[in-house]
Amino acid sequence: MLPDVPPGERADVRLKVSESYLAAPITVPVTVIRGEADGPTAFVTAAVHGDELNGVAVVHDLLYEVDLADLHGTLVLVPVVNVLGLTQRTRYLPDRRDLNRVFPGDPDGSATARHAHLVFSEVVAPCDFGIDLHTATSRRANAPQVRADLDGSPAAAAMAVASGAPFVVHARTRRGSLRRAAGAAGIPVVVFEGGEAFKFERRVVATVLECVLDVLAHRGMLPGRAPRNVERQVVVRQTRWLRARMGGILDLRVGLGQAVAAGDELWSTINPFGRERNTVTAPADGWVIGATTLPLVNPGDAVVHLGTEGPAPS
Ligand SMILES: [Zn+2]
Repeated sequence: MLPDVPPGERADVRLKVSESYLAAPITVPVTVIRGEADGPTAFVTAAVHGDELNGVAVVHDLLYEVDLADLHGTLVLVPVVNVLGLTQRTRYLPDRRDLNRVFPGDPDGSATARHAHLVFSEVVAPCDFGIDLHTATSRRANAPQVRADLDGSPAAAAMAVASGAPFVVHARTRRGSLRRAAGAAGIPVVVFEGGEAFKFERRVVATVLECVLDVLAHRGMLPGRAPRNVERQVVVRQTRWLRARMGGILDLRVGLGQAVAAGDELWSTINPFGRERNTVTAPADGWVIGATTLPLVNPGDAVVHLGTEGPAPS
């Protein structure tokens, strides 16, 4: 159980989620920060995928860098949800399952399902809303973006827009994801994606931190926070991965966050003799919201994640 923290105080707890081969407790660190004033209860989770570290730095900034003296309500901060994946430097748990496919979990299920159940029942369920922090999967990078079901969850859509993220991406939920399980329990969740796995990228961390604070302000938890001046926010309604047609060495000609027009050259595949073999152009206008970081491709490998702009949620 999370502790009952008095107003104006914080508490660090270790939530036991499993036991090691040596019968030692395996715990998830959780910090509960309660403001002087009443307000909502919200969670911020990171590293549900154990190799996605930028969110760990975002939560640490919330813990140690941000002045939360004016906090209204309670923040439940979890810098590392998948402690076993993080310590073994992998996305998954030791039973090779993906934690973000088994929520809300099962107290009698697999090791991963039990872990999910404890996190869901102790951290997620007591909250009014939440924020889950991710990065691109290994060997890919994402432009900082917020993902929400813009049609299915008005509360999450409003949080996504209010975050001021440069890209608001409409994304239906996946079965077993924390976002879907929380939504089904009436707890709106937005997911931030930014940068690469296995890195602390300070610019990404700084951007996502501002977005998180804007979501908290939107929900009334930081009434003293001045609105941020966001120059341009792109609402992406459709996304698709453009894939390599030929194997070879990749010459990527676009960067993350860049706008492209139909017909623009996106990349070429070069053979070992340095001769260009195949150039791929944008099939439509859009934005580069993600891309591979590996300069080598086989046919079919995902190279550029293209987002198509659409109307803002009503
Ligand atoms: Zn992830």
